[in-house]
Amino acid sequence: MATTERTVEIAEGVYRCGSQRLNWYLIEENDELTVVDTGFPTHWEGLIGQLDTLGYDLADIEACLLTHAHPDHIGFAAQLRERADLPVWLHPGDRERAQAGGQPPLGGFVKNLWRPAVLRYLIEVLQSDGTSIPPVRMTEPLEEGSDPDVPGQPQVIHLPGHTDGEVAFYLPDREVLLCGDALATVDFETWRGNSPQLLPPWLNVDDDRARESLARLESLGEVVLLPGHGDPWTGDLADAIRGE
Ligand SMILES: [Zn+2]
Repeated sequence: MATTERTVEIAEGVYRCGSQRLNWYLIEENDELTVVDTGFPTHWEGLIGQLDTLGYDLADIEACLLTHAHPDHIGFAAQLRERADLPVWLHPGDRERAQAGGQPPLGGFVKNLWRPAVLRYLIEVLQSDGTSIPPVRMTEPLEEGSDPDVPGQPQVIHLPGHTDGEVAFYLPDREVLLCGDALATVDFETWRGNSPQLLPPWLNVDDDRARESLARLESLGEVVLLPGHGDPWTGDLADAIRGE
């Protein structure tokens, strides 16, 4: 998976990038961009390709926002910060994790490698330099109530449980919710289905807390849900969350 496989505009000025198994996004506003999550290190080539396709270059990226600091979300963040000289925003709850280069839930992966979908994910990790993530040492603090002034004007919603510092970004004028791994729209263990769901307990640092956090999304109503894993989903989040 050396390069990003596709770019799709899935909502007004929001582009889905990444690979078959994980997503990161570009938000466009007034000819400037915000990058949300950064895949694996090898996805850097994909970013450059996407910018070219859309008629932008690195200087047009104003900021990088991270939903959390798992290795498959911070892959090229350090490189982007350095090369584009821009701020990388992350919730303080995940700062140490980012400084350590991601820290994957290895034990859970080992126990679940008998599942074909998990094995395929691990193969992608290995093929994408996912075991040697450059540490993200300098981050700006993402906190609810002090939203970063970046293209797309995302509102920060803290949803601890998947990791301590997991956040979602809500774009009220576009009714888009970029939820990181607080929710996926595919079953991570089988890679089937297309509905909002928690990741398996072995991928969450606190599964109960992850479930409790979902209540914070109910008032958003109808959204286009853009997860870290799985296809976009459109609907009323209150209905979807009730099943979790
Ligand atoms: Zn994650």
